[in-house]
Amino acid sequence: MSEITYETVKYERAGERVVRIVLNRPDKRNAQNSALLYELDDAFQRAVLDDSVGVIILAAEGPDFSSGHDLKDPITIHEDGPRSCCGGFDAPGIEGWWATEREVFVGLCERWRNIPKPTIAEVHGKVIAAGLMLVWPCDLIVASDDTVFSDPVVAFGVNGVEYFRHPFEMGSRRAKEMLFTGGNMNAADAYMLGMVNRVVPRGELEKTTLELAETIALRPSMGLKLAKQAVNQSEDRQGITDAMWGAFSLHQLGHANNLHIHGSLIDPSAAQKIRDANKRS
Ligand code: ZN
Repeated sequence: MSEITYETVKYERAGERVVRIVLNRPDKRNAQNSALLYELDDAFQRAVLDDSVGVIILAAEGPDFSSGHDLKDPITIHEDGPRSCCGGFDAPGIEGWWATEREVFVGLCERWRNIPKPTIAEVHGKVIAAGLMLVWPCDLIVASDDTVFSDPVVAFGVNGVEYFRHPFEMGSRRAKEMLFTGGNMNAADAYMLGMVNRVVPRGELEKTTLELAETIALRPSMGLKLAKQAVNQSEDRQGITDAMWGAFSLHQLGHANNLHIHGSLIDPSAAQKIRDANKRS
């Protein structure tokens, strides 16, 4: 098994034609800073360019898949420059922040969603807010039965996480419940709603995901590529990408409002409100 080590991500050959990319900030519960997101992008790109890779798994070390954005480490553009056609990152007001989130969050998520190879998210533990932004771009999701999904960021005075696919992933009513309450959705409910493909005991998660990946990797790359694009195009015809970009604009309205009222991009009292709500539940 060949292994390449990044600082925040592991890149492993998991099977003959399967690569496993692993989020590797377990002490931070895989909170996402710029280093992690750009290393993840590098790892995906590496797998895309390697013709011996048929399927890509995205997994995580530690107790949780991801606790969301790393709020203690503000995002920055990669030192080699952006990977989208965005600019104006230092512009004052909301203009610069809008461009920054467009590059580092939604821009990267859209790149990963359109990777021309099957991708499988292997998730466990907590998948909070921006954690969803790593899971939803993947084609398939395998979850251990202890997985809980949530997006509590309405407490921050915004509509939801930047890569806004909630209504399409779980239906409008469950999406509103998740957003309005900030509460958890367990793996069984996510399976029932069609958001995940398999739910398995934690001890069987890696094995089940690899077996699924190896089964898919036996299929011809051209057929897989066409099937993926056909489904993604069908989602686009249903409006998923337009709706996501529209919601992203509303998200920036929320940040602008916070900037006006609080002098910061998020309501500074929100983190404590979320902690209090978690204690009550
Ligand atoms: Zn934001």
